[in-house]
Amino acid sequence: MLRPTSSPALSSGVWRERECPRCHREVDLPVGDLCDACTREIRVRAGRVARWVSLVTTLGFGGYVMLVLPPIQVPRLVGAAATVTWYLVMRRIAQRVGAEWFRAH
Ligand SMILES: [Zn+2]
Repeated sequence: MLRPTSSPALSSGVWRERECPRCHREVDLPVGDLCDACTREIRVRAGRVARWVSLVTTLGFGGYVMLVLPPIQVPRLVGAAATVTWYLVMRRIAQRVGAEWFRAH
């Protein structure tokens, strides 16, 4: 049975939390970890933010690329590849930053 306290305890040589530092549910976690419900909620919220951030910035980047590149096939293909890469990188970065943000707030 877990005690309702936030003070970590040493168990099997590992410091463990007795309650989730975010939602204060009783759990048994390594120090610094969040419970499954909080982890899932943060992942969903960060994914939603990442989807929008990557979509909006990709539209801006893709529009800019199409404006500045000459209407020749090869540069346009390179621009399209760069736009897809931009989307993937921005989504990954926004997911990571969003997860850290929601974890702290
Ligand atoms: Zn929690």
